[in-house]
Amino acid sequence: MSLNTNNQKRNFNATVKTKGEIKKVSDELIFVVQKHAASHLHYDFRLELDGVLKSWAIPKGPSMNPSDKRLAIMVEDHPYDYKDFEGVIPEGSYGAGSVIVWDNGTYTLADTIEANEVENKFKSDLKEGSLGFILNGKKLKGEFALVRLKTKQENTWLLIKKKDQYASDADVLKQDKSVISNLTLERLEK
Ligand code: MN
Repeated sequence: MSLNTNNQKRNFNATVKTKGEIKKVSDELIFVVQKHAASHLHYDFRLELDGVLKSWAIPKGPSMNPSDKRLAIMVEDHPYDYKDFEGVIPEGSYGAGSVIVWDNGTYTLADTIEANEVENKFKSDLKEGSLGFILNGKKLKGEFALVRLKTKQENTWLLIKKKDQYASDADVLKQDKSVISNLTLERLEK
């Protein structure tokens, strides 16, 4: 069975809008963080925009501590349906290794703007290389920023937690189970 078939099957779950609903309200944009044991363990941070998932690979994973600045490499957009993918990507395929959905939820932009302007604002912020957003996940909560570094490689960003009531120096990565299946990566591989 191909990955795509898997993803389509996983798409119709009660907590998320189904593919048939084309236009969602803008304040229900989703985010997902997938923990991915590829050749190097990393966390894939994905924000829904324009029907796809804007994606960053974060080698050290996200942090709730505002003094941590986590390198985030922008990678290619992923299809929206990928948000629920958990499983083992076979050897020889791109991204071979196992994947769990480490966190998911919704997000809004940090700036207070009209709901129907969120995606346009996001797009211009993305171009500017400075995104501020508020996550409402099971593990990640509160305000974050993604800031593009002024380096030759245009895909190099930092993910930074902003100071708010959710900021913490406790290691959020110790919560290592999938928010979908409750499996750890290690359990999934068995
Ligand atoms: Mn990955």
